[in-house]
Amino acid sequence: MAETDYAMPSESGRTSRVAAHLRRLLLPHLIFYSGLLLGLLLLLLCGIVLYEARIDARDRARITQQNIALMASWDIERNIEFFALSLQAVVEGENDPAVGALPMPLRRQVLFDRATTAKYLGGIYVLDANGDIAVDGKSDVPRKANFGNERYFTVHRDHPDVGLYVSDPYHSRLRAGSPSIALSRRITRPDGSFGGVAVISIRLEYFQNLFSRLALGDRGSMALINTSGLMLARQPYEPAIVGRNISKASTFRHFMTASEGSFSDTASIDGVRRLYVFRHLENLPLIIMVARSEADTYAAWYDRAIPIGSAMAVLALGFVGLSLLLDVQLRKRHRAETELQALARTDGLTGLDNRRMLDVTLAREWRRAARSQHALSLLFVDVDHFKRYNDSQGHQAGDDALAAVARCIAGCLRRPADYAARYGGEEFVVVLPNVDTNGAVTIAESIRTGILDLGIRHDTGVSGRLTASIGVTTCYPERDDSIQAALKLADDALYRAKESGRNQVVVLTSSSVERMPRRA
Ligand code: GH3
Ligand code: MG
Ligand code: MG
Repeated sequence: MAETDYAMPSESGRTSRVAAHLRRLLLPHLIFYSGLLLGLLLLLLCGIVLYEARIDARDRARITQQNIALMASWDIERNIEFFALSLQAVVEGENDPAVGALPMPLRRQVLFDRATTAKYLGGIYVLDANGDIAVDGKSDVPRKANFGNERYFTVHRDHPDVGLYVSDPYHSRLRAGSPSIALSRRITRPDGSFGGVAVISIRLEYFQNLFSRLALGDRGSMALINTSGLMLARQPYEPAIVGRNISKASTFRHFMTASEGSFSDTASIDGVRRLYVFRHLENLPLIIMVARSEADTYAAWYDRAIPIGSAMAVLALGFVGLSLLLDVQLRKRHRAETELQALARTDGLTGLDNRRMLDVTLAREWRRAARSQHALSLLFVDVDHFKRYNDSQGHQAGDDALAAVARCIAGCLRRPADYAARYGGEEFVVVLPNVDTNGAVTIAESIRTGILDLGIRHDTGVSGRLTASIGVTTCYPERDDSIQAALKLADDALYRAKESGRNQVVVLTSSSVERMPRRA
């Protein structure tokens, strides 16, 4: 028997096998994967659009908060500048001997001008070098009080170059505990010694009123904090908030990192996450902070994002579901078609290919053999005295016997290209591409002995058992005439086997007629 040439597996062969494997794996689910991909793409696009809208909402909120902080800080800076100028006038007036010589009502008028009538002014004083009130903005007879221990006094006494000092918040002693801050300046005598302090106290109510008029949303807040971390005012208002030290809070640490900025943080007081915008007031130790809860910032965004996002998710899911359904249906149909095709080519009784497929396969192998110039062997297998078997054992037993013979024939084929089909009735044809006469006879012999060894009882047969006769031919399609001629040769060989007593293999080729009777 001729050896078959098997190519060694090469790198490109392996790659193409992997590609083919992938194709087999993916192709049947192509529609589902495409649907899944499109669905994911849809979700991704929607996600990007919504994400950008969210960033826009945040940017808009930040700009609004920055504007609020800017407007409020301008108002505060302008008012404090006004008070600082008044203080400067007091200091200069106190250093003028002519003013000092004036009677008190006139001296007050010259020193304080109209500053005493300012709306949120708590008080305006000149303190002497001991901290006692020397000139009182509210009365011609200075009230009896000493502020010698207050920081806004001592700081100027101990450090001549402080300039304008802004105090920590405190509760006023002269005004029934009204929360205030003081602005103070040192009065330096002509000889350079400490001559006292000019002080203006501002009611914190000013900041509170300013803040309360600005819209910040339900959970928004706004505060004025000094650089030591003490709270001066806060909206929403809470009396206990004045003077609260927040220097340890994470938000305050952010405030001290730059002159202005923004960040998101969760407030330790109420656990609400807010966007904070802060700004240091110019030349003042004060920080203004505007915070808006993220819930408020994103409320409008949520109102749009939730329905749009849900609709998109449902759409994408529907899309994927539909493609899955289509995929399943198509594969079902494909399976049904494959089954139908298999039914159309298979012989129902034996499971071998039927006559129609034999014709197709034989024509293909014939062409292939002609192309590659190799041998093609054909076996004609015919069960001996099968009519008698049917008659004695019944048609059903006949069917079972034919199925057993078919299994036996198929079991004797070793190479992938070897092929068997039911030719019709109790006749089978075996096609052996690239197999010479010797190889074909070997296979024919193994089929013949295999059928004998099935041991199917056949009292009226050749040897008490079911047997078959086999006609063998080997042809070289490029030389020989036609498929029909080859089949005829195999059939003739079979005829001779029958003639010679059955249960044997006979070979006939176009060039020489050999006779190789083999009895069991
Ligand atoms: P020979 O040894 O010369 O081949 O004799 P034979 O009886 O086998 O040949 P013949 O052609 O006279 O008879 C073939 C018989 O095979 C006739 C028919 O009853 C039987 N047969 C054909 N197809 C089937 C089938 O599908 N089932 C069954 N049970 N019998 C079949
Ligand atoms: Mg027959
Ligand atoms: Mg027969």
